[in-house]
Amino acid sequence: MSKYDVAVIGSGPGGYVAAIRCAQLGMKTAIIEKYNILGGTCLNVGCIPSKALLDSSHHYEDAIKHFEDHGIEIPGEVKINFKKMIERKAAVVDQTTKGIDFLMNKNKIDVFTGVGSFKDATHIVITSEKGEETIEATNTIIATGSKPASLPFIKIDKERVITSTEALSLTEIPKHMIVIGGGVIGLELGQVYRRLGAEVSVVEYMDRIIPTMDAAQSKELTKAMKKQGVKFFVSHRVSAVTREGDQVTVTATNKKDEEVSFTGDYCLVSVGRRAYTDGLKAENAGVKITERGMIDVNDHLQSNVKNIYAIGDVIKGAMLAHKAEEEGTFVAETIAGQKPHINYNLIPGVVYTWPEVASVGRTEEQLKEAGVEYKSGQFPMRALGRSRASGDTDGFVKILADKTTDEVLGVHMVGARVADLIAEAVTAMEFRASAEDIARMSHAHPTYAEAVKEAALAATDDRPLHI
Ligand code: FAD
Ligand code: NAD
Repeated sequence: MSKYDVAVIGSGPGGYVAAIRCAQLGMKTAIIEKYNILGGTCLNVGCIPSKALLDSSHHYEDAIKHFEDHGIEIPGEVKINFKKMIERKAAVVDQTTKGIDFLMNKNKIDVFTGVGSFKDATHIVITSEKGEETIEATNTIIATGSKPASLPFIKIDKERVITSTEALSLTEIPKHMIVIGGGVIGLELGQVYRRLGAEVSVVEYMDRIIPTMDAAQSKELTKAMKKQGVKFFVSHRVSAVTREGDQVTVTATNKKDEEVSFTGDYCLVSVGRRAYTDGLKAENAGVKITERGMIDVNDHLQSNVKNIYAIGDVIKGAMLAHKAEEEGTFVAETIAGQKPHINYNLIPGVVYTWPEVASVGRTEEQLKEAGVEYKSGQFPMRALGRSRASGDTDGFVKILADKTTDEVLGVHMVGARVADLIAEAVTAMEFRASAEDIARMSHAHPTYAEAVKEAALAATDDRPLHI
């Protein structure tokens, strides 16, 4: 029987990063993945394919709507080859997952294909078509991720009533896609299909989309996406989803308690994801699972069984690839006897719509609720030369700083390339910068980043230069 210092179950961004870090630290490492392609949700049916389709559909939208503004005329009709768009997405995924094979090889990590399940706290059985194999591991890291959640009355048939997984591999462009849930997935994939010509109706339970982000971001994104033709139905409680032939009907109750229905050819269910532990047989190792189906961990991301750790979507916290990656590194270093640290307040959140939405730290609503006295500085993207040059004038940067100390407490952005700009805010906050620190740093001109400096000037003592 093969013996390992560490076995990692699951090869998503949490699992593969944990495995690499363990190997870097000199531990004999195995990674177990039930699919024969590594990379987990993120690389196969999440971050990477969704961004590929967002980019492709963005190019199309630019060609039909914005090229003309730049004096570019296309003789004849611009056509979508949807099959090719999906094939390109698959090629991007393929290239990216092959990169993980390379990294496993480079770091001498043994890859096992099959479902990993606990025999006991130190033995893992790997079950595949080829049969069963058991390995011994001194430490195990559970990184089994998550699966799409649904509502009890919805039958996901994977044809017309679909999750993000199917929405990333459709064979036709929907005529009318009804999206249940105005969160990250619903908005990113809703925007893809709206750009490609579908009618898109987003039905959201809360009174605003992206309800966990700063309210100003919800408002700005709603405005921008409405301009693009997406229809929003907030404060709507979905009560039924039925399918008849190729038609799907979603029934919901609105704020006035009236029943409304939406009929389309596809319904995307994007109401969150659930931790995934099916087939893991955690009970054989005595590992405790919470009521919500997550692995219960302490501050060291250690389960109640001391040699078994868990990371990523299968534990509490934001379901984000970079959060899973940080936790992978954290656990590897913990096992190696180091004292790593993760600042969960500084895990940024990004929605890759256009305009993009990005946040770090606390929202204005959270500061109000906590009774923290704060100052707010905001700068609109339309006031930037860079934005006017590119034509991307939607959005703003908002900086929230402590009223007394001027320490930056939260940064919330909407606009072009803010997914990349948020890194400046994370860096500043990691070093506990004040708004004035940011305001006094030189930002290249003309860039979108100038909006960060201007918002910091506005937060410091209300002295932006360009509005
Ligand atoms: P996962 O990536 O889910 O990987 C878990 C792996 O474990 C899977 O490969 C699974 O097959 C395997 N596994 C499970 N059980 C077993 C078992 N018993 N034996 C062996 N293998 C097993 N996050 C971002 O930060 N940015 C984004 O842009 C982004 N976009 C997304 C878009 C979509 C459409 C979706 C669905 C998600 C997106 N996410 C994004 C979220 C991101 O994908 C997850 O947060 C991330 O993948 C979690 O990583 P993980 O390693 O915890 O788990
Ligand atoms: P989400 O939590 O972002 O959004 C779900 C939305 O559905 C919420 O707005 C919620 O209020 C709404 N909702 C819940 N129940 C509802 C109901 N009965 N009727 C109508 N609306 C309802 O979840 P998601 O969009 O499914 O994404 C799942 C996870 O994947 C998220 O945790 C997210 O972090 C991750 N993800 C991240 C990215 C990114 O980082 N860019 C992209 C995609 C997915």
